[in-house]
Amino acid sequence: MSNGGWEYSEEGDLDPDLTEEAGYGEWEQPDRRWVGSLFRIITTLLLIALIGSVLLSVVSGRRSSPPPEQVPNSGGRLTRPAPTAIPELRPGQSEELMADYNKPLPQATPETQEFWDGLKREELRIQQCQDCQQHYFYPRPFCPNCHSTNVEWITASGKGTLETFVINHRAMGGFADEAPYVIAVVTLDEGPRMMTNLVNVEADPEHVAANMAVEIVYDAVTDEVTLPKFQPAS
Ligand SMILES: [Zn+2]
Repeated sequence: MSNGGWEYSEEGDLDPDLTEEAGYGEWEQPDRRWVGSLFRIITTLLLIALIGSVLLSVVSGRRSSPPPEQVPNSGGRLTRPAPTAIPELRPGQSEELMADYNKPLPQATPETQEFWDGLKREELRIQQCQDCQQHYFYPRPFCPNCHSTNVEWITASGKGTLETFVINHRAMGGFADEAPYVIAVVTLDEGPRMMTNLVNVEADPEHVAANMAVEIVYDAVTDEVTLPKFQPAS
């Protein structure tokens, strides 16, 4: 039967004679023995690799030290190491301060050292760009406004306004005993904003309001660390 130049056998396969003529004879029965050989080679290699890795794990398991002491799992909660004992205090050290302060403490860096040192002297040290005159906080070796590195430390007035605040009633950890307390953002008269606590005021919206005038209080929480807090301006 004719079908536009192609002829099909009754089974629907290409007629071997026609395909031979058309040059497709080689396609009909390609030599695929190499596929089987390749499969056998790959299987053998995988088997060798598997046996090798099992043997290796058995040998290394015997050599390695016993596993570290198991920490009992407390139902998905984070397990903490046992608290270390509070170090012995030297005579004259403020035992109350060192033993009682159980909240996180700041770690000074080269960029912030002057800020923390200033607080210990009861000075609020911030930086000012000598090119664009802008004051800024937190401490950085360059001006966030114009990127100049011509910056200097100055002592701020310690006066500002309460930009915004939240009264925390659900405090955690070392802060729990102090709730409710005021977490505040204060805008210094020099311009920069600081996150801080508003203290010496009842933590109640009746007594705390945005835009109220505030002034700094130096809170020496340990012998080494003084924190800047604010209170209603006198
Ligand atoms: Zn600048």
